[in-house]
Amino acid sequence: MIKRTHYAGELTEYEIGKDVVVMGWVQNRRDLGGVIFLDVRDVSGICQVVLDAGHLSDAAFDLAQTLRSECVVGIKGIVEERAEDTINLNLPTGTIDVRASELIVFSQSKRLPFEVSQSEGVKETLRLKYRYLDLRNPSVQSKMKLRQEVLRHTRQYLYDQRFTEFETPILTKSTPEGARDFLVPSRQKKGGFYALPQSPQVYKQLLMVGGMDRYFQIAKCFRDEDLRADRQPEFTQVDMELSFVDAEDVIALLEGLFASLMKSVKGIDLELPFKRLTYQEAMEKYGCDKPDLRFEMPMHDVTECVAKSDFTVFTEVIKKGGVVKALTVKKGALFTRSHIETLTQNALEYGGGGLAWIAIDSDGTQRSVLTKYFSKALMDELLEHVEAGPDDLIFFCAEPKYKAREILGKIRLDIGDLLGLRKSEHFAFAVVTDFPLFEYDESEGRYFAMHHPFTMAVDEDVKKFKTAPHEMRAKAYDIVLNGVELGSGSIRIHDPQIQAQMFETLGFEESETRSRFGFLLEAFEYGVPPHGGFAFGLDRFLMLITGASSIRDVIAFPKMKDGSCPMLQTPSYVDESQLEVLHIGHLQRHHDKVTVELEPHETIDHVAKLSMLDLTEEERKHFAKDLSDIIGFADQLLALDLEDVLPLYHVHEDTNAFRSDIVTPFEYGASIVIKVPKVVE
Ligand code: ASP
Repeated sequence: MIKRTHYAGELTEYEIGKDVVVMGWVQNRRDLGGVIFLDVRDVSGICQVVLDAGHLSDAAFDLAQTLRSECVVGIKGIVEERAEDTINLNLPTGTIDVRASELIVFSQSKRLPFEVSQSEGVKETLRLKYRYLDLRNPSVQSKMKLRQEVLRHTRQYLYDQRFTEFETPILTKSTPEGARDFLVPSRQKKGGFYALPQSPQVYKQLLMVGGMDRYFQIAKCFRDEDLRADRQPEFTQVDMELSFVDAEDVIALLEGLFASLMKSVKGIDLELPFKRLTYQEAMEKYGCDKPDLRFEMPMHDVTECVAKSDFTVFTEVIKKGGVVKALTVKKGALFTRSHIETLTQNALEYGGGGLAWIAIDSDGTQRSVLTKYFSKALMDELLEHVEAGPDDLIFFCAEPKYKAREILGKIRLDIGDLLGLRKSEHFAFAVVTDFPLFEYDESEGRYFAMHHPFTMAVDEDVKKFKTAPHEMRAKAYDIVLNGVELGSGSIRIHDPQIQAQMFETLGFEESETRSRFGFLLEAFEYGVPPHGGFAFGLDRFLMLITGASSIRDVIAFPKMKDGSCPMLQTPSYVDESQLEVLHIGHLQRHHDKVTVELEPHETIDHVAKLSMLDLTEEERKHFAKDLSDIIGFADQLLALDLEDVLPLYHVHEDTNAFRSDIVTPFEYGASIVIKVPKVVE
């Protein structure tokens, strides 16, 4: 076989006059009679190849005429300068081409389900079913290459900081990240199960006990949760742990890592240190613990001020213990009525009772229903409090405290969108600290660890385990980017007595603690260094820095929203015998749902009989494949979670248009069109 000498996209004018061999996929073929032009694409880019009858054998030229898009070829030829009028400055190799003297066709390609260069616009099921075609798209490849750049850089940065890279087991025991586990039944230990790790948390702490000082891992984590755009059942974390550190040391290391990553992969200089907020501040000012700080617009608490007004909508809520929060939108008075209505509607959808507002015109005139309930002095006090002046718009939300913060926090983001303040090419990192150690779950009547049960409390709060756990703050920190939690970490408990108090507050029985975490507690009895760590979601980080709308775009082989993979058709059913070996054969199997296993021979024949067709063996094979594709697709449709999805079409009984030239009795017309879908813009 001839050997490749150059990558297609890396040929330059320096190679002019040289013999080269390039190999790749035919992106395009243009047949101009005696001359055929090919765009040959490989991982590095594209170059143009010229095949003409004068330079090729007859057989090779004939072969060139049969080439289809995406077949794989090898070309030997000489690099030539392009004629002035054929130069393509949009292509890095646009000033040269390769005049072929030999052509090898390594493999042909069937007709494609979609054009490679258009793959990003294709329905996701189809795109993921043929992910290997999608991956050929240079724009998809560029995300994968960026992923590898981030990994390479992260590794180097951490090596330079004296970290050691580890791999920890995938077949392990339930870990304490609070999600549902994926379980793997054991063949050798009847009734025993491994759990796939939700994170390598316990292993990394054991590595600290093992004296490894600084650990990191590009770790696969598995959490059986309902999926969203930024979640996958298996995802990658950059996971680390350090000995003899406090929270400030870990945060400083992370700032250094992210600053150097952003510089090397995006060419962006980040301002250090990152903006710091306590959990409390974040909740008060932005209504959530992962604020989007690409824009300021903090919330103001105006409860005390508006309590003095006669506006009963506010005063009634306050009497019942609620609060009134306000958001000032600078230059917001330019918002149209319909903007304000949309935001009010959103507030209703977020579970609130609506929004009140004041618009201040440039001459200072106030437009609002509120004005008549406020004295001039009180209104001045209010406007001063919310830092509002001419041209500004202020929104108010009166609700119980947690609800007011949450609703106005969401409205703040909506306003950011309306004003174009959330640009994907802007990056606002922040560090959130002082999280509560516990969350109380009303329905279960018990405390849960807000981070995980190995998180240390802030020193002065350690005494509150028995008296006021709800007031305890954790030595935990999150890194937030553009309103997304990139990752979290904490200083861990290394004192067995504090760990015991933690488990006790969480309501773990002694025996449960022993069986779940006994190995760790025992390890801590043999000398454990103070330690802490952090993990961030690599996929999420990539999603943000590439401006992708979904985490799936930056993963080579992601799962669909329902956890399935349309390419490998996973999850799939297994043989009874496999279940028997794993001692779970007795479990009920939902096999009789339509599955791809359906041997379609007979079914095909039945359908053929119905339509009175005779099928040849060859046709039957094709139809069998089509049928199983249809069944597979129907399965996927069945599995779609449409609960929160608004329909595209609405049935409207009385807003359909009738032809005015035909008189139709109304009732009759209405009943005819009653089910006609109406497109809602
Ligand atoms: N294991 C934690 C997580 O996956 C991170 C950490 O505390 O280091 O969120």
